[in-house]
Amino acid sequence: MSDTNSNVDNSKIHRIFNAQLINQYVVSESLAKQRINKLQKLSTTLMKYNGEIKEALYLDYKRPAAEVDLTEIFPVTSGIKYAIKHLSEWIAPQKVATPLSLFGSSSWIQYEPKGVCLIISPWNYPVQLALGPLTSAIAAGNTVIIKPSEITPHSSSVLRKIIEEVFDENEVAVVEGAVEVATELLKLPFNHIFFTGSPEVGKIVMTAAAKNLASVTLELGGKSPVIVDETADISIAVTRISMAKFSNNGQMCIVPDYVFIHASKIEEFEKAVKSRILDFYGEDAAQSASYMRIVNVRNFNRIKSYIDNAIENGAKIVHGGESDINDNFIEPTVLTNVPLNSLVMQNEIFGPVLPIIAYTNLNEVISFIRSGEKPLALYIYSKNKQNIRQILRSTSAGGTCINNNALHYYNHNLPFGGSNNSGVGKSHGKFGFL
Ligand code: NAD
Repeated sequence: MSDTNSNVDNSKIHRIFNAQLINQYVVSESLAKQRINKLQKLSTTLMKYNGEIKEALYLDYKRPAAEVDLTEIFPVTSGIKYAIKHLSEWIAPQKVATPLSLFGSSSWIQYEPKGVCLIISPWNYPVQLALGPLTSAIAAGNTVIIKPSEITPHSSSVLRKIIEEVFDENEVAVVEGAVEVATELLKLPFNHIFFTGSPEVGKIVMTAAAKNLASVTLELGGKSPVIVDETADISIAVTRISMAKFSNNGQMCIVPDYVFIHASKIEEFEKAVKSRILDFYGEDAAQSASYMRIVNVRNFNRIKSYIDNAIENGAKIVHGGESDINDNFIEPTVLTNVPLNSLVMQNEIFGPVLPIIAYTNLNEVISFIRSGEKPLALYIYSKNKQNIRQILRSTSAGGTCINNNALHYYNHNLPFGGSNNSGVGKSHGKFGFL
């Protein structure tokens, strides 16, 4: 049936869902070898479309081609390689002990496919955040409908081409569209929903899933703090923080959101961060081929309002601050003296703005972090084991890196995910398969 009140092709959504309902047991009975073949074909096809992906990402938001291999292609191909290596062991029955009271029986765990799954993905890494969860779903023997973000339409369209080349729609299909399409999909009784996006929409997804008692994995966002103490190597800290903060224009779920720095090191940090930004992007970042743009005007205005609000409330600009709404350009911007109650410290920034806040007492930093939602990631730069232990013990985050940022995302042996407001459930490697 098609919905005449919107441009959503409901008949297509229902046709694909019903086809997957029927086909799910064929897919779930597939052997390890068959699943491995599918994963291999997905990997090869992705590589074949490498050039088109780069073009699409540039058209969507001037994503530099050099970043695409590292942040869109490699995470998927390496995740596929890892799944192929471990799949037989993951799907094999695992013997467990049987209590004496059940003498005469034996016990084992055998993981079963969930069935028909829905993946809703965001725009900031449109390829890997759709194909990463898909890798896990294929390894686990599921059928999948992917709803990519409408905000990066060129990338979504290449994604659909790749999937159509590898799979029949009764196994994996891409349905493009915006909120209305997601809303229609969410009415259907999927067995599992994997959502990556904002905590606000995560709540809508979990509410819809509850109506069908579908299980969910929610990969959400929030503010990921960095603590740089008085023992940290400032040069290393600044290089790593700046690389992560300004790549993809700060539009990354595990980007260092803000930095608490020991007051004795703030001048050194400010000087180093200025010089690192100049090294990376030159005097005029707008002219740099390595510097991308904010994805759209709505996000541009949101981030600009955070900068303006911080300055109105006494923040000082260490670097940057320039912007151009016609190009969704915001200069790499570093702020100090930022009031903790300003918008930039109360909301996920998701843009190229780095507030740095001096501290003298680590307990105050810990209290501030504890007063907010649990972060998706937390980063500590320190050589002091006691400080590191204290921060780890006293805070809760989806993942933590010591003397680095974002690296945990790339280790398939680690679970990736958040905690409550930053996420529910884990992905990557065996955790994604489970
Ligand atoms: P978003 O929540 O606005 O959108 C994500 C997806 O949900 C899109 O496909 C969109 O079409 C769909 N959607 C939007 N409104 C909806 C609604 N009312 N009902 C159903 N579906 C709806 O997020 P975004 O702006 O695309 O991405 C930014 C957010 O995602 C940030 O908060 C970021 O931290 C988070 N994120 C998290 C991860 C992670 O792995 N944890 C990765 C990337 C991004």
